Amino acid sequence: MLLIKYLDDNISRCETLFNCNKDSMFILDIEGHVVQGNPAFVKISGYAAEEAKQLKLQFLFPIDHVNKVFHHFHKAVLGQFQNFDCKMTNKGGILVDLNVTNIPISVEDQIVGVCVVARDITELKRKKEEVRKIEEMQRILTDNVLDLIISTNLQGEILYVSPSCEHILGYTSDEVIKQNCLTFIHPDDTKKAYMNRKKCLSSLENGRSCYRIRKKDGNFIWVESLCKPIIDPETFHVLEVVSVIRDISKQTKVEEDAKKIEDTYRDLVEYSPDAVFIARGSKILFINETGAKLLGATKKADILKKKILDIFHPDYHEMAKKRNSIVSSGDATEFYEYKLIRLDGTVLIAEVKGIPTIFKNKPARHIIFRDITERKKTQELLLNSEKLNVAGQLAAGIAHEVRNPLTAIKGFLQLMESQADNNKPYFGIIQSEMDRIELILSELLVLAKPHELKFEIVDLISLIESVKTLIDTQAIMNGVHIETIYNSKNFTIKCDQNQLKQVFINILKNAIEAMPTGGTVTIELKKHSFNKVKLIIKDTGEGMPQDILRRLGEPFFTTKEDGTGLGIMISKQIVENHDGTIHFWSDQKGTIIEVILPMEKHKQV
Ligand code: ADP
Ligand code: MG
Repeated sequence: MLLIKYLDDNISRCETLFNCNKDSMFILDIEGHVVQGNPAFVKISGYAAEEAKQLKLQFLFPIDHVNKVFHHFHKAVLGQFQNFDCKMTNKGGILVDLNVTNIPISVEDQIVGVCVVARDITELKRKKEEVRKIEEMQRILTDNVLDLIISTNLQGEILYVSPSCEHILGYTSDEVIKQNCLTFIHPDDTKKAYMNRKKCLSSLENGRSCYRIRKKDGNFIWVESLCKPIIDPETFHVLEVVSVIRDISKQTKVEEDAKKIEDTYRDLVEYSPDAVFIARGSKILFINETGAKLLGATKKADILKKKILDIFHPDYHEMAKKRNSIVSSGDATEFYEYKLIRLDGTVLIAEVKGIPTIFKNKPARHIIFRDITERKKTQELLLNSEKLNVAGQLAAGIAHEVRNPLTAIKGFLQLMESQADNNKPYFGIIQSEMDRIELILSELLVLAKPHELKFEIVDLISLIESVKTLIDTQAIMNGVHIETIYNSKNFTIKCDQNQLKQVFINILKNAIEAMPTGGTVTIELKKHSFNKVKLIIKDTGEGMPQDILRRLGEPFFTTKEDGTGLGIMISKQIVENHDGTIHFWSDQKGTIIEVILPMEKHKQV
């Protein structure tokens, strides 16, 4: 009853403190019965003030908390102040978190009860738990992300690094903490990283940049860094900068590899022996080196400003348009022979193929132009050799046909020679002329059956002199003067004399025939490189136009009424059999023929 008296005495004194307290307060007698509760207690416990009276302490707390509660209650009964957290079950069975302070009530040195001040900390606990969860989540995130997270102060000193630092860079956290973040950046990238950080600090916005970071083993890796300033919500000052750093070296390598592949393809196209164009609609978007050369352009830009049809001969425009639309609709076309127009207006023949492609992310046409001039030449050569074959066969036939009557005539001549003394000088001439015909015939036979050549060491000057003697009569008759210039005395070559004579006779005869009103033939002999001799035969004749010049050497090609068209062809073949070369130049002022032959090493001076 001392407690009741105490309450009566004191509660009225502290009525406001008791009744208006936000924290719930209730008084327990020393047996643990509730004697009185304030309105906050009524509210939190759900028991009406009267109902609460005589409520036993254990009814207010869940079973697993009862021991704890009693433990502290007993201590309070023993005179000790107690503060602890526990849960209370209210009337409706709902758990409430409380922070409890037990204040022993003593009257005349005797503990008569306990005043329990219980603060509802449910909300506080919930918030704390929330914060803890968030922190836990953050920790899990920063500890486990593959990216490197670092936080630095305003001076750039590292305050925190995520554990991934060791995996990514090889440094432990202790090795980097307090270091300046810029010291780990590649010297070439420091400025960029510094500027990015500065911008992020001044604008208070996130900044992104790529740079290289030095790993512990000394190697550098490419990283992408996103830095974010952490701002004090009250002062708006930057507290620190958090950077999320991602290793992009693999990605960079993939990009580099892709670029290398692209470069290789570009080189392949650029230096392809075929001309390559890329076109869209009528525009030319790309042309390679070969393409520019093919069209005779010194600058690619000269072609790029043209329309695609401009490079096709007008006769082929319709065909080109048709085939363009096939490619534009997604099908490749086969090679087709076109006439193209070079920048200088000349025409060239090329095979053209179109393939659909993608250029700069849009559909386009990949057009391949193949210059077939060389192939055409080869075809012509093949045709020539075909004709040569025929010529050879013909020559064989003719030679046989002529040789038989010749043998007969020769026999009769010999017979007549022994009987008709008067005409003896003529017989000699006829005989030698016949020998020559025989020789020519056997040379013709070379075409059909290449016979063994008889190579001997010969002095070229005396060979030319003998040819000159042979031909001089004909020259003089045509008002042609033959001049010789020998730049050295010794031009020794290894050759089949008769064959080589045949060459010079053919050339000189042609020269004389090219000067119907007379003129000069100059034969010049000089050394060429260190082991060759060059023979230049110039005439002042009518020359020949390009189309004739191009056909020289074709069997049976002649512009003369009584010509055979075999002279140059045979000459070419003989020179080639002697490992030599023959070239022709001509204009209206005359013709130059150049024969280059190997010299005989031992005899040369
Ligand atoms: P041919 O003399 O029987 O016509 P060639 O093979 O010797 O046969 O010559 C072929 C053609 O080349 C000649 O018909 C002539 O038109 C031309 N030709 C050769 N040499 C000369 C030259 N020196 N000047 C002008 N035209 C030439
Ligand atoms: Mg001739």
